[in-house]
Amino acid sequence: PLIYILSFEERRVERHLQQIAKDLNKRLLVWTVTRGLVDAATGRAEKDTDGPLAALEKVLATPPSGAFLYVLKDFHPFLDQEHRWVSDWAPTVRKLRDAAYHLLETSSSLFILSPVLSIPVELEKEITVLEFPLPDREDLTHLLARFEEEYAQRATIQLDARTHEAITGALLGLTEMEAENVICRALINDRRLDASDVSLIISEKGQIIRKSGTLEFHPLREGLEDIGGLRLLKEWLERKRFSFDESAATFGIRPPRGLLLIGVPGCGKSLTAKAIAHAWRMPLLRFDIGKVFGMWLGQSEQNMRRAIRTAEAIAPCILWIDELERGFAGVGNEWDSAATTRVFGTFITWLQEKVSPVYIVATANDVTSLPPELLRKGRFDEIFFVDLPNKHEREEVWRVHLRCRGRNAAQFDIQRLADATEGYAGADIEAVLNEGLETAHADGKRQPVTDDFLKIIRQTLPLSETMKDRIEAMRDWARTRARSASVLKD
Ligand code: ATP
Repeated sequence: PLIYILSFEERRVERHLQQIAKDLNKRLLVWTVTRGLVDAATGRAEKDTDGPLAALEKVLATPPSGAFLYVLKDFHPFLDQEHRWVSDWAPTVRKLRDAAYHLLETSSSLFILSPVLSIPVELEKEITVLEFPLPDREDLTHLLARFEEEYAQRATIQLDARTHEAITGALLGLTEMEAENVICRALINDRRLDASDVSLIISEKGQIIRKSGTLEFHPLREGLEDIGGLRLLKEWLERKRFSFDESAATFGIRPPRGLLLIGVPGCGKSLTAKAIAHAWRMPLLRFDIGKVFGMWLGQSEQNMRRAIRTAEAIAPCILWIDELERGFAGVGNEWDSAATTRVFGTFITWLQEKVSPVYIVATANDVTSLPPELLRKGRFDEIFFVDLPNKHEREEVWRVHLRCRGRNAAQFDIQRLADATEGYAGADIEAVLNEGLETAHADGKRQPVTDDFLKIIRQTLPLSETMKDRIEAMRDWARTRARSASVLKD
């Protein structure tokens, strides 16, 4: 009898409910605090129902033969136990409970439609929560068809099958209204909607997603060939790639969940996340978990759910969570806030149960502060430890970065450079290389030579010196709990 629909998309949900009401031959009555209960079909308002209690009185008066769908919009503030007096919320909660029992005796249901989940504990067992997903490809196809019809006279809409697919793909992850706005923007430019608008739509979507505060599209530049070393990890990724195929599912392979990369800073964890998206040809969404936590009641969970919903709508995609410890450090300890625990709970449940092809690549530098439940087997497909590069890997890192800067590695003494950079992270090697190039450039724009780099190396303290104890502690931790990303021998 009581259903809580979590969604920002009032208009879309209401349209669906209207259809359901029609199909089931029921009357749809929509309540807002400004108009009270209004019949969706006739637009007629029920008298004196604008107060929440008055509206619930009306629900309680539903006759046994009554077939209604009641929708309460923005009702959550009236259930808020933390910011309201008990004399305000207690009667509302009580009446909702009574309504739940009463509606069982009728053919009616009551929906609470809100973007925020706020359920008093007294109602937890009575309410079913439904998360309304964002529009999928089929919904967006209908949306485009609507535009084609509506603008047939005023604009040229030319969508062959490929453009259509590219546009619907680019719109995934947006609400219906956002998608409409983006299409309008594309149309307004030149009164045309065609293949030339795909990049505009993608960039508009990027901005909308960024506005949500936690997610951001990341450009795909680096591939697996841009990672020096980490051979075992790369081989594992090559195998994993095929687990997304439909044939893998029919073969009995569980859909892949995600990968946790832990280890020494600057050794290629983030680089790997980017390279996976590139290699698997999936969009890369960066999830800033630190920004999930907000000030208002329920805001943090709402942010987490919203990010999950967006990622699921865009799937298949890679969800890259950089510095996992920024979100979940210390969950479960005595200073931990209730919001952090709930957000963590939402995340971990999703990680465990998700079926959509959102592949999570999480990175962490400080595993000791992460909750142990997160590291338990079965949460992630695998936990890899990324250590400082060994000699062979340092050679590869040098080669990769020389190549990226248009230099021929054969003209340098890579062996010596790799020897001299023992204890350096990949990021340190890149920094030495940049400085060497700057030196040569300042010195009459001449080509750099091995000695330029060796000179800089002599003046630099490697990461292994500055973080000695932390690196050792990490290695100790990883020995029994994680797989090595590299072939161990130098
Ligand atoms: P942090 O934890 O500090 O974010 P990280 O392990 O994620 O560190 P990255 O951000 O991936 O490190 O590395 C920084 C930069 O260093 C990369 O963009 C890349 O240019 C270079 N780099 C690090 N490791 C490698 C590697 N194995 N091969 C090639 N380049 C590397």
